Amino acid sequence: MSADFRHFYQKTWAERTAVVAEQAHLTAAEQALFKKYYVTEHHEIIENYLTDYPLPMGLAVNFVIDDQPKMVPMVTEEPSVIAAASNGAKIVKRAGGFITTLDRREMVGQIVLEKLTDPEQTAATVEQHQATLLKVADAAHPSLKKRGGGARRIRTRVLGQGYLSIDLFVDVQAAMGANMLNSMLEAVAKSVGVITKTNPLMSILSNYATASLVKAECTIPVGLLQAGRYSGALVAQKIAAASTVAQIDPYRATTHNKGIMNGIDAVAIATGNDWRALESGAHAYAAKDGQYRGMSTWTTDGQVLRGSLELPLPVGVVGGSIKINELAQLNQRLLGIQTAPELERVLVATGLAQNLAALRALVTTGIQQGHMHLQLKSLALAAGATPAELPVILQRLELAPQQDLATTQQLITALRQ
Ligand code: NDP
Repeated sequence: MSADFRHFYQKTWAERTAVVAEQAHLTAAEQALFKKYYVTEHHEIIENYLTDYPLPMGLAVNFVIDDQPKMVPMVTEEPSVIAAASNGAKIVKRAGGFITTLDRREMVGQIVLEKLTDPEQTAATVEQHQATLLKVADAAHPSLKKRGGGARRIRTRVLGQGYLSIDLFVDVQAAMGANMLNSMLEAVAKSVGVITKTNPLMSILSNYATASLVKAECTIPVGLLQAGRYSGALVAQKIAAASTVAQIDPYRATTHNKGIMNGIDAVAIATGNDWRALESGAHAYAAKDGQYRGMSTWTTDGQVLRGSLELPLPVGVVGGSIKINELAQLNQRLLGIQTAPELERVLVATGLAQNLAALRALVTTGIQQGHMHLQLKSLALAAGATPAELPVILQRLELAPQQDLATTQQLITALRQ
C-alpha cells in the first residue's frame, strides 16, 4: 500500500517524515538520520523539508589575488579539489599571484514578445519609451535605487520567427539579483504590453550574464612549473598544447571546463550562492562564438606561461539564503570580503588555479597519481575502515592488484583477525 502524500506540504515535519518512512519502509536507524541533520530554520527555506544534507567544507590555501593573500573556503564532495586548488595557487603565488579585472556588474533580464509581424518596428517603439520603462523598473524595487543601483539601460534584439527580446540591464548592488530583477521585469512587461499593444510571452532574468564579466590572469616563469623529470619549459609547452586542444575539441573542452567549475562551484556553495546560475552562464559563455570551447587559455613564449580565464560570475554577498546561512557568513569572513565584486574576483582566480593544477598533472604524471591517494581513502571509508585502521589499509590497498570495494573489505577483515 502506498503512503498518503496528499497535502504533503501542509504536514508537520513529524507527519511528513513518517509518511516517507512508511513509503520507503525505513528502519528506525534510517529514520533517525532525518533528525540527526535537521535544522529548524531550514523549514522556511524550501518546501517539504526533511533534513539537511551535509557536505565537507575545507580551506584552499596559498592564494594571492590582486596582491592580497586569501584563504578560500570550499564545499565539495570531490576528494582532490581542495588539494588541486591549493597546489595551483601555490605556483601562481610564487609568480606574484593572480591579477583580476572587472569592468562592470549588471544583471540582465528579458521580456520576450511573440507573433510580431514587424519586430523591427516594435523594437523601435520600445527604444523610444526607454526612459519611461527604466522608471517603471526602478519603481518596482525602489530600495535598489536608494542603495545606488537600479535599472541602467534597455536593449532590443530581434530573434527571428516573430520574436523580440527586450533586455533590461540592472545594477543589483550587493545581491545576485534574480528575484529583484524578476519583479522589475514583470512590472516592465506590463508597460511594454500597453506600449506595443502585445501580450508578452514571458519575462525572466537571463543567466547569460554578459554584463557581469570578471577575468583572472597569471604569468608564471616556466621554471616554477618543473615536475619530476619534466622541465618547466616542457610543462609550459604541454599546458599550452592542452589549452589548444580544449579550444578546438568540445569533448576535451567539456572536461577542461568541468575542472574549472570544480573550484568555482565549491566556493559558490561555501558562500551560499546559486551555483546552477553560474554553471549555466559559464558554459553558455564558453560557446559564445558558436563552438563550445575551453573557458581558459594558456600560452607560452618559452620564458613564461600566461593563463587567462574570463567568465560571467554574478554572485551576491546578500540575498537568497545567504543572511540566514551562518556558514556562508563565516566563509565571507574567512575570505575577508564584503562586496560582490570581491567575491567574483576570488571565484575566477580559484577556477584558474584549479585549471592550472589539473593541466599540469594531466600533461606530466597523469591525473590519477594525485587523485588516487584521496580516492583510496574514500574507498577505504566506504568499505568500513575506521580512521585508526586507515593508514595500514591505505598502504595495503596501494599494493593490492585490484583497488575495488571487495578487495578493500577483504583487507579490513584480514586486519581485524
Ligand atoms: P533576494 O530576493 O533575497 O533579494 C536581495 C535582498 O537583499 C533584498 O531583500 C534586498 O533588500 C537585500 N539587500 C540588502 N542589502 C543589499 C544591497 N546592498 N544590495 C542589494 N540588495 C540588498 O535575492 P536576489 O534577488 O539576489 O535573488 C537571488 C536568489 O534568487 C537566489 O537564491 C537564486 O537561487 C534565486 N533565483 C535564481 C534564478 C535564476 O538564476 N534564474 C531565478 C529565480 C530565483 P531590499 O528588499 O530592501 O532591496
